[in-house]
Amino acid sequence: MEKILCLLHTESDGSLHKSAFEAVGAAKDLAAGLSSQFAIGIVGESVANAANAVAGAGAEKIYAAQGADFAQPKYATDAAACEALAKAAGATIVLAPATSRFSRVLAGVTARLGGRIETNATAIAVTNGKPAVSRWYYRQRIETTLSRPQRPWVITLSPGSLPELQLAPASASVENVAVAAPASRTQVTGIQSPPADAQTIRPDAQLLFVAGAGWTKQQADGASHIDEAEKIILQFLHQTGASLGSSKSLADMSGEGQKILPFMSHLNQIGQTGASPRHPKGLATCCHGEEPHVVGWRFISERRAVNTNPGCGWAQGKTDVLYVADAFELMRKVEEMLG
Ligand SMILES: Cc1cc2nc3c(=O)[nH]c(=O)nc-3n(C[C@H](O)[C@H](O)[C@H](O)COP(=O)(O)OP(=O)(O)OC[C@H]3O[C@@H](n4cnc5c(N)ncnc54)[C@H](O)[C@@H]3O)c2cc1C
Repeated sequence: MEKILCLLHTESDGSLHKSAFEAVGAAKDLAAGLSSQFAIGIVGESVANAANAVAGAGAEKIYAAQGADFAQPKYATDAAACEALAKAAGATIVLAPATSRFSRVLAGVTARLGGRIETNATAIAVTNGKPAVSRWYYRQRIETTLSRPQRPWVITLSPGSLPELQLAPASASVENVAVAAPASRTQVTGIQSPPADAQTIRPDAQLLFVAGAGWTKQQADGASHIDEAEKIILQFLHQTGASLGSSKSLADMSGEGQKILPFMSHLNQIGQTGASPRHPKGLATCCHGEEPHVVGWRFISERRAVNTNPGCGWAQGKTDVLYVADAFELMRKVEEMLG
């Protein structure tokens, strides 16, 4: 019988990210599908709150690797903790959210366990009595479903792919696992991050707002209006908390040092050679909707686009709603309505 372990880590305030609840939901469903049990393992400085948050999930045990050594994400200590938790649980299948903290260590942990790993899975199901993992290849163009005989099998789940398990907090009993934490030479001395307003990539936002090169192009009056485009885009992000995406054309222009949108970089780029973010909704503005760009919208559930051209790429079945309109006018109106 498979022994399933769902590995989680706490956030800096001791809570769990929503991707943790997605992973717990996946572990619970997998255990049900295999007529098996599942356990949870949590890494963090103090896991009490996190353990209480998942106490109602029905795990047979909650293991913890906790203490000051695990407060900060560091390879040596995190890898030791994950290895110890997997061994304590005798896990044959380990599920974990593909957070940056876990993505950094779990391949190494799998090697230490003598197992195999699948990264960034988007679904896990039981087919013919065996677990089967879905995963995308070739920049999200080909989806495969695969299974493996080797154990332990470590599977990281791409955040945003699965529904979050809704749980009421309860009182958890936790089994502490001793971890031989290696002496670490790494000291985290602080975190530097841009102010919330300057941080335009927001993976947890409900809406992805994508700007295309059209914002910089000559408009009906024969002039371009880049300063106005900048104001409209920033105001919309400020009003809605949306995440900002870019087409390649616009990101390239910004990268070439042209006076375009100073807050735009290649990190914002969506598409075949860009990112494939996951948000419930997406709105494309002033971007044509060409295939290499639209590939990045694979996981956006509801898509809308604004383009002056009724024959643009979005009109070819790539969006749910296409507004044939001037984005400057339309977004100004939207912002007025948002107050
Ligand atoms: C191998 C390869 C990989 C690629 N990878 C990517 C990728 O990862 N991501 C990506 O984005 N692209 C990628 N591309 C490029 C992609 O094919 C397009 O060239 C690019 O996405 C076009 O950007 P755009 O739509 O912003 O610009 P344009 O094609 O110039 O379109 C601008 C649009 O704005 C509209 N417009 C102008 N003014 C207004 C207005 N006032 N209101 C409303 N609409 C207006 C116009 O009608 C036009 O449709 C790739 C290409 C190749 C060959």
